[in-house]
Amino acid sequence: MTVNALKLLLVSTPIGSLGSGKGGGVEVTLLSLIQGLLRIGHEVILVAPNGSQLPEECKDIEVCYVSGLAQASWQHQNYISPVTIPVKGVLPSMWDKALEIALEKGVDAILNFGYDWLPLWITPYVRPNIFHLISMGGVSEAMKNQINNLSKTHHSRLAFHTHRQASDYDLVQQPIVVGNGFDLDKYKFNPRSDGPLGWAGRVAPEKGLEDAAAVAAHFQETLLVWGVVENEQYARNIEESLPAGTIDWRGFLPTKEFQNQLGECRAFINTPKWNEAYGNVVVEAMACGVPVIAYNRGGPGELVNSGVTGWLVQNDDIDELILAAKRVDKIDRNKCREWALNSASYQCFAKKIAMWISEENAYKNINSNQN
Ligand code: UDP
Repeated sequence: MTVNALKLLLVSTPIGSLGSGKGGGVEVTLLSLIQGLLRIGHEVILVAPNGSQLPEECKDIEVCYVSGLAQASWQHQNYISPVTIPVKGVLPSMWDKALEIALEKGVDAILNFGYDWLPLWITPYVRPNIFHLISMGGVSEAMKNQINNLSKTHHSRLAFHTHRQASDYDLVQQPIVVGNGFDLDKYKFNPRSDGPLGWAGRVAPEKGLEDAAAVAAHFQETLLVWGVVENEQYARNIEESLPAGTIDWRGFLPTKEFQNQLGECRAFINTPKWNEAYGNVVVEAMACGVPVIAYNRGGPGELVNSGVTGWLVQNDDIDELILAAKRVDKIDRNKCREWALNSASYQCFAKKIAMWISEENAYKNINSNQN
């Protein structure tokens, strides 16, 4: 199917400004997609919270910065929590702005990156069409219901990163699954296989850092940890439960330095306790040639080819993680990089997104192009 050049309005996550790390993988996904869309000839306008930082490659696009209070993330509330929007919240302000710009500039579609109730709820009532790249599994009843409801009337406006993520929802048709994409030139292949063990992600309970740290403690090694510490108490509890110095906290680094340090690892351990929607860090590790040891759950369970690009083990089984870490030398680091190049480039991701938006009902084609 040929896709004509589109003029797209992208609406960022209301959890935090781009570059802060608070938006998690959505930040990297959004910025890679902008690069990919520009590269294949589409036009992009971005609405994002004040303070957002854009990389050089995205500097030429039109950006509308919006002020307001950040939205609380759904994964840190109870499953049955009601929908709440702070007074002077950035979420409604971003959508006011987005709808105003859409009318003024005549865009072809709006693409939403926020995992939030409001943009889903307004979808049937507004023009131009709003599309949603859903970034989490079903962590909240209110959100799950809203996504299920939208599937009944506007199924083709919803896309997911993996099949496992989509399986959390009761969709009326097969999900549109688009994977994810990265600027793989930014991730350098590192052939050395005698480095340390690594872990990366938001430091928060759903990410299960304690299991990866237990593996490092077993080998009396240091675990390198990158990412925003979202929950200080959780981080302290893990640290206090381990021999001193087990964790080397590297902080939240820009992609350039992050991938450079990541590539030095002999293995990357990914141990989320929730149904991870995708698992950007898993693919970023593979892009550097680093084998991944992960639970066979959520996105990572779909992304890692056990025995080829790493090892998938039984959920929550630390002994199995340890065994897998002993067998990591069986993995060819070239295969990891190769998988990333073939399956997770931003060019390929942007093409899928443009095709989805151009032809709402083209989901069968998109799915048949999955790797
Ligand atoms: N990340 C980063 N610098 C760091 C550690 C992590 O930029 O020092 C980014 C990483 O590139 C990834 C994101 O944080 O894109 C985490 O996304 P992931 O999908 O793994 O988890 P999420 O936070 O979305 O649940």
